Amino acid sequence: MRVTPQRLLIEEALRRIGRHATAEEVRRAVADRLPHATAPTVYATLELLAELGRVRKVRAGRGPLLFDPRVDRHAHFVCSSCGAVFDLPAQAPAEIVDPAPALAAARAAGHHPEAAEVVVEGRCARCVQAPR
Ligand SMILES: [Zn+2]
Ligand SMILES: [Zn+2]
Repeated sequence: MRVTPQRLLIEEALRRIGRHATAEEVRRAVADRLPHATAPTVYATLELLAELGRVRKVRAGRGPLLFDPRVDRHAHFVCSSCGAVFDLPAQAPAEIVDPAPALAAARAAGHHPEAAEVVVEGRCARCVQAPR
């Protein structure tokens, strides 16, 4: 798999952002160095990086697809009030974030599962403290 400078710049940008980001946020972060990169190009590059295991895709709540610079297995918390996405502590017991049983159940039902992840929804600590 050829590593293009554009791909490297996009991966770097997500790491610089350092948290879950939309393709549009990444596009804005590379706009000065890749002025001609369109949103679909950046999106496709991030999808490819996810396939290569360099970044992770996170479908959280009703918001747009997010890209995560952290590729180790971890669960997410999505705030239903402000939409913020948090990593749950890395030291969460493995069985909490292990999607294997869910994947096995899907397979047993005759489906062809590709991915599963733990997303906890609710109001984040910030919103609980300062309700809007
Ligand atoms: Zn919140
Ligand atoms: Zn994450």
